[in-house]
Amino acid sequence: MSVSKADPCVQPAYTDSILESYKRSGYKQYEFMATLDDKCCPVCRKLDGRHFRINKAVPGKNYPPLHDGCRCTTVYYDPEE
Ligand SMILES: [Zn+2]
Ligand SMILES: [Zn+2]
Repeated sequence: MSVSKADPCVQPAYTDSILESYKRSGYKQYEFMATLDDKCCPVCRKLDGRHFRINKAVPGKNYPPLHDGCRCTTVYYDPEE
């Protein structure tokens, strides 16, 4: 998957199969999970544990991969749980 930087104006809400499965399960948010080892960069580290709305997920910004080689992942998040 490549994240195009060519056209910043067109940035539809991003969905992939993982986000789709979160949505199907009725979740509206996800939690960003960085791989907190020595290869993880400060950008990913900063997002670790933060919650975002699934319909606002933008790969490269608040959804993995943030960059080439990014190994971050997400889990669903339910604020009412
Ligand atoms: Zn990183
Ligand atoms: Zn990452």
